[in-house]
Amino acid sequence: MCVSMTSRYTRRRFVRVTGGATAAASIGAPGWSRASAAEEKTSAVRHVNAVVIGAGLSGLMAGRELLRLGVDSFVVLEARERVGGRTLNMPIGGGHVVEVGGEWIGPGQRAIAALIDELGIGAFDHYYDGDTTYDIEGRISRGLLPDVSLTEAADFGKVAWQLDRLAKKIPIGEPWRMQDAAALDQTTLGNWLAEHARTSFTPSVFRLISRAVWSGYPERISLLWVLHYLRSAGGLLPVILNDGGAQDQRIEGGSQVISQRMASELGDRVLLGRAVLRVEDRSSKRMRVVTSAETFTADRVIVAMAPSDTARIVFAPALPQARQDLVSGWARLPRLPLVKAAMLYARPFWRAGGLNGAMQSDRSPIQLVFDNSPEDASMGVLSCFLSVVECPHLADRKQREEGLKEELARYFGPKALDATGYVEKDWAADPWSTGCITPLTPGLLSAGGEHLRKPSGRIFWAGTESAKRWCGYMDGAISAGARAAGEVHASLRG
Ligand SMILES: Cc1cc2nc3c(=O)[nH]c(=O)nc-3n(C[C@H](O)[C@H](O)[C@H](O)COP(=O)(O)OP(=O)(O)OC[C@H]3O[C@@H](n4cnc5c(N)ncnc54)[C@H](O)[C@@H]3O)c2cc1C
Repeated sequence: MCVSMTSRYTRRRFVRVTGGATAAASIGAPGWSRASAAEEKTSAVRHVNAVVIGAGLSGLMAGRELLRLGVDSFVVLEARERVGGRTLNMPIGGGHVVEVGGEWIGPGQRAIAALIDELGIGAFDHYYDGDTTYDIEGRISRGLLPDVSLTEAADFGKVAWQLDRLAKKIPIGEPWRMQDAAALDQTTLGNWLAEHARTSFTPSVFRLISRAVWSGYPERISLLWVLHYLRSAGGLLPVILNDGGAQDQRIEGGSQVISQRMASELGDRVLLGRAVLRVEDRSSKRMRVVTSAETFTADRVIVAMAPSDTARIVFAPALPQARQDLVSGWARLPRLPLVKAAMLYARPFWRAGGLNGAMQSDRSPIQLVFDNSPEDASMGVLSCFLSVVECPHLADRKQREEGLKEELARYFGPKALDATGYVEKDWAADPWSTGCITPLTPGLLSAGGEHLRKPSGRIFWAGTESAKRWCGYMDGAISAGARAAGEVHASLRG
């Protein structure tokens, strides 16, 4: 949710080193290898100190941290033919890219700020000059805030304050230790809102927030999960603010550049096209990690992905029951499968009309729109988030492109029909990410939450969902990777 206010922190403009084109070219750089078919046939089982599974931000950061700590015998195994996981740059012409996965960073995200600083990757302010468009409860309005009555504004403010106050009581990163954790986990955000809100406007705005931030409806999401998520981000405001909040800045060259740069530095330790099928951790023996291409033995393993994605790997012996329950519960969750699409224009035409290109809605098909034009505004880009389950008439890609143009015209005028191109990523159809931002239904977090991070024998857990701070965000992925590497290092030392 956007409130265009001036950022409270000092904006940094990092050195502009990497463009999208440069980064994309480095994918094929020597040293960053796929084993040839011949190699695969002849390769003997190779032993390493550590195997990291998953070359998203978390796994690559784990590798980077292992190296920093002096553990240089490791590999990072990635199922896809690319690094970056839930971050993905798509070229849109003119040497520009648009992100169709994780994108924005904001104040308080210290892990990602430090990392891009080290990597020499720049960040720049997202364009928020001008009015935001709102479509809430059937009312379209434009301004800094949605057009609401005093009663509605006061009610939303009061409920938001109460939620924040409750979130502050959560032990950071350990919601299961909260007094009454089980009770808070048995209820949903929707139930809690029904008890506390006095207007229909407040639940409508929370519906908007809940679809945008947690990919789910308030009536399905555990209140404890919401509180944990807010606590880990420092409160409701950092999460829902665009300008000055979690959607404050963009990464030069697109966020996937961060993973590409880390992978380049790790060289031939990063192996693509290696879906891990099985991890064996039999005591007194070396661990075995079996991929579709070859087998590794290892002293320690880091699994760096969303808990639901670990369900595709067979662990032998089986993981503790509480961890299994958490994973299977997570994998079964009803979530809003998300498409992130970008409509391309010759110019960001909406800016001349005083609009900042941002739109937020509690209806379908479009949940959110952002002006994702390149920093130099040499072309216009409107990025849209939508959930196909909410608009079955847009299930087909071509229909979606046409339907989105018409929807954008409702908000930004007929010029929105004159698009010059369209790119999208349907995360629901992705074979390696079961969700983008994953909500939790009641009962799972209080029962098995501690297994998000607790090592299982010699298996250590990374991935943004295991992060104490900025859980669900790129920042959380990075800090979780570094934490898991530290745990492995300490464990190897004895
Ligand atoms: C549409 C969208 C928008 C988002 N917007 C933002 C945003 O603006 N800001 C923000 O901070 N965050 C955002 N996020 C979230 C952010 O992208 C994630 O938090 C972060 O990228 C997660 O990184 P990760 O390394 O923990 O997991 P992942 O990126 O999921 O990495 C896991 C890796 O493991 C690999 N893998 C899976 N199974 C196997 C296997 N069996 N063997 C080998 N490899 C395997 C996967 O291919 C993947 O590369 C967004 C996400 C999406 C999808």
